[in-house]
Amino acid sequence: MITAVRMPESAEAAAEAAARGGRVMAGGTVVMAEVNTGPVADTELISLRHAGLSGITVNEGVARVGATTTFAELRSGLGFLSEAIRTLASPTIRNLATVGGNLFVPQPYGDFAVCLLALDATVEIAEGQETPIAEWNRRPGEIVTAVRFAVPREGTWFYHKAMRRKLNSAAIVTVAAVVDRDTVRVALGGVAPGPVRSPAAERVLRGQELTRDVLDAAGEAALADIDPRDDAYASAWYRRRVLPVHVRRAFQNEEA
Ligand SMILES: Cc1cc2nc3c(=O)[nH]c(=O)nc-3n(C[C@H](O)[C@H](O)[C@H](O)COP(=O)(O)OP(=O)(O)OC[C@H]3O[C@@H](n4cnc5c(N)ncnc54)[C@H](O)[C@@H]3O)c2cc1C
Repeated sequence: MITAVRMPESAEAAAEAAARGGRVMAGGTVVMAEVNTGPVADTELISLRHAGLSGITVNEGVARVGATTTFAELRSGLGFLSEAIRTLASPTIRNLATVGGNLFVPQPYGDFAVCLLALDATVEIAEGQETPIAEWNRRPGEIVTAVRFAVPREGTWFYHKAMRRKLNSAAIVTVAAVVDRDTVRVALGGVAPGPVRSPAAERVLRGQELTRDVLDAAGEAALADIDPRDDAYASAWYRRRVLPVHVRRAFQNEEA
């Protein structure tokens, strides 16, 4: 049962509090639901609200997004992400839900974590270390302070999410990609225990014009890189079945 709420006023103080134990909370869209509905092992909440971790800066094409930046703030701050953020939860949730919190929610949530994988982002933690997101594993008590990524050139960013409803619906399949002259990165959500890259789809796309045939081949190839599960939104069978179509749609900028 929660008996105390700490409100540290810096990343360092938050990290110290987290190291002593307790449940870290940012927007609370997931944590508060747990606190309100079930037994919670921790007795302390460590709120990041006053830890000074929000804000977006862009320097020489590289964006740094503070961990407690909400999706509403991010949507107005970085235009290329607007469509991706539109598919995440609902306006009410986006006013609270944070970029840092999205790194920890289990699939089939974590749409922004899929974007960060496609963007080859780095994750910054309180001690100042920065790790590529593809190699990063959260250690207990660690506080994420920011994420950093190069803003893709116009026309090189692709995103598509298949979901059951327009609002508050986890992913059946999420596809995020950067395809530029020397760069091909395709990341998938909803189709494995965590967000995954698809090296097989990337091989098909590299150096090719994005024609219908190439996109269909990339979608089929992506099946080699997934490990989907059944959940309330879709069965593993269905996710396999529809993945190739949604990979193609990501590049044709079609709505779900
Ligand atoms: C109705 C509803 C619909 C949703 N729809 C979507 C959706 O479509 N797509 C999607 O991706 N998600 C969705 N979510 C999940 C969730 O709201 C978001 O993923 C959100 O980004 C979580 O952020 P938060 O700040 O609220 O996290 P919190 O609830 O505060 O925390 C979540 C977890 O992250 C940890 N944490 C948070 N910040 C940090 C930090 N800086 N450092 C270390 N640990 C941290 C917490 O300890 C906790 O374990 C939905 C949630 C709800 C309730």
